[in-house]
Amino acid sequence: MARPYKCPYYGGVKSIWKGYRILKDGKVRLRRCCMCDRKYVTRKKVIL
Ligand SMILES: [Zn+2]
Repeated sequence: MARPYKCPYYGGVKSIWKGYRILKDGKVRLRRCCMCDRKYVTRKKVIL
């Protein structure tokens, strides 16, 4: 099941999804934390 992503800076779980970035080894999800307003990416195997 999907787990909420935690902000690596603040630890908050509220974030805004900003889209994907395509890298050589796959997709990463761009997110922006609602708590500290910093951007971070999450890597996940996307199963569609
Ligand atoms: Zn944060």
